[in-house]
Amino acid sequence: MIEVANVSKKYGPKLAVDGVSFRASAGRVTGFLGPNGAGKSTTLRILLGLDRPTSGTALIDGRRYASLRNPLRTVGAMLDGASAVPERRGIDHLRWIAQSNRIPSRRIFEVLETVGLAESAKVRVGKYSLGMKQRIGLAAALLGNPRILVLDEPVNGLDPEGIRTVRSFLRRYADSGNTVLLSSHLMSEVAETVDDVVIINDGRIIADGELDAITEGHASLEEAFFTLTGSRPGRSW
Ligand code: ADP
Repeated sequence: MIEVANVSKKYGPKLAVDGVSFRASAGRVTGFLGPNGAGKSTTLRILLGLDRPTSGTALIDGRRYASLRNPLRTVGAMLDGASAVPERRGIDHLRWIAQSNRIPSRRIFEVLETVGLAESAKVRVGKYSLGMKQRIGLAAALLGNPRILVLDEPVNGLDPEGIRTVRSFLRRYADSGNTVLLSSHLMSEVAETVDDVVIINDGRIIADGELDAITEGHASLEEAFFTLTGSRPGRSW
């Protein structure tokens, strides 16, 4: 379970995240949605211990990321696609993570199959398309077989087939009792994937609940956002 409580983050005078609270529950896919610059990545970085909040707490299974005993086996994260060295082959990127975390090498082949990259495992990451980089990032997140997944913009750059693959994988993954938190600025692309929705705009949570409850009475999630904020998502969505 993920629990973000009253998290704020200031960068100089800029309040990037302003008192954000929400939960992501086991067995559910939770979408953390909002336009570019809304504060999604900052919140996720704080959750994963990559940044310190100015105030508030972000907990994974009741602990801060830094105090998790087995972080990679507890939570898999993909923040900006693959942060892999371009000269490294996809498979070597995964090998490096597996070895440094005592993950058996058979897991590498399992996760490559899961994300549909088995055929391109020996290609250098620098030659990967954006979609392939996303897939290798997801594969890395899955290596430790974690019960919780945190994915920043996982469908960005994926073709429709790639989106379907990720979508059905996340569905099965959550259905077997795991927790998925994914961020996106593409509301319509994730509306079919998520159970629960947390909408952030300008650093603040403006809606939080089951997808059906949020969209009730609206033609789409974008329309619900428009009603809530008075502004159209625009090209940045
Ligand atoms: P999102 O992920 O929703 O696109 P971000 O969390 O990346 O939004 O950014 C939220 C706000 O915080 C933006 O206005 C962004 O410019 C600002 N911001 C993010 N990181 C930094 C940083 N390291 N220094 C200064 N401002 C930042």
